[in-house]
Amino acid sequence: MQNNPKILEQLEAWVEENKGHAILGTTAQYIPALGKVDPSQLGICMVDEDGNYYCAGDTDKEFTLQSISKVMTFIALCCHYGLEFVLERVDVEPTGEAFNSIIPFEIHRPNKPFNPFINAGAITVSALLPGRTSQKKYEYLASFLEELVGHPMELDREVYDSEWKSSHRNRALAYYLKEANFLEIEVEEALDIYIRQCSVKVSVKDLALIGLIIAYDGFNPITKVKHFSEEIAQVAKVLMVTCGMYNSSGNFAAHVGIPAKSGVSGGILAAVPPKLHSQTYEFRAGAGIGVYGPAIDVQGNSAAGTMMLRQISKEWDLSIF
Ligand code: GLU
Repeated sequence: MQNNPKILEQLEAWVEENKGHAILGTTAQYIPALGKVDPSQLGICMVDEDGNYYCAGDTDKEFTLQSISKVMTFIALCCHYGLEFVLERVDVEPTGEAFNSIIPFEIHRPNKPFNPFINAGAITVSALLPGRTSQKKYEYLASFLEELVGHPMELDREVYDSEWKSSHRNRALAYYLKEANFLEIEVEEALDIYIRQCSVKVSVKDLALIGLIIAYDGFNPITKVKHFSEEIAQVAKVLMVTCGMYNSSGNFAAHVGIPAKSGVSGGILAAVPPKLHSQTYEFRAGAGIGVYGPAIDVQGNSAAGTMMLRQISKEWDLSIF
């Protein structure tokens, strides 16, 4: 498919229309370095299987992955140890509680964390990354990410330091995990790798490309490289649909219907699988979408970004359901 200027025009118009929804949220105040970001920004980037990028709005600004990293850490771990090994250690059930809640863990005392997208599950998964130290684990993850996006990844030191200092809840969770024998490494090491993965800098373009690869079941249709198996991609997409948008995953599935994962920095990674039967769909052959809008709603999702995706999905018939 040739680059289609109408798609870009349309995205630019939707960014303008949805920008105002930022007032429905605020930047993540509990991590001071995220709290001080300009909340009014909104950007989107979409990439199709032919490598056409459509980027509109505030797209030059980098931001940190935060919880979006949980998708790639899960995939990287599955690639290394196999899906079975990972699913023996973390489940794929939504909790209905906040992402950083201690309740499901403390009350239900599950024999493994509920899913890899809540913090208890994510810290468990990060700690399992190959490598003896958190530095080695981080290097493993960074090189996996670099292979996906095709360029070196950098850590946002300011965000890392800010989160390290304010991570009381995550530290408490990590101690629970340790007490339950889910963590083989020390609490501080587990927190270090977890906070590092959250502090990796990305652009909406990077997110769009990763979304495309997930949409194509681990295959990059632009470079023709196969990064991970269909089996792993399927479980990643199931997790994105059921747990990817915090406690509004059900609403997001109903109104947007695209496998997605958001983070408290205001980023959203969305994987639009090929939908060959659609009449109205502009991206019949599948696409990846990256969104950035740092004002997040009470659930933790980009307020303007979610509204914009809702509009795009409706107008272009992107829902998988
Ligand atoms: N680093 C953040 C935390 O653990 C990630 C939260 C998120 O993006 O959901 O609180």
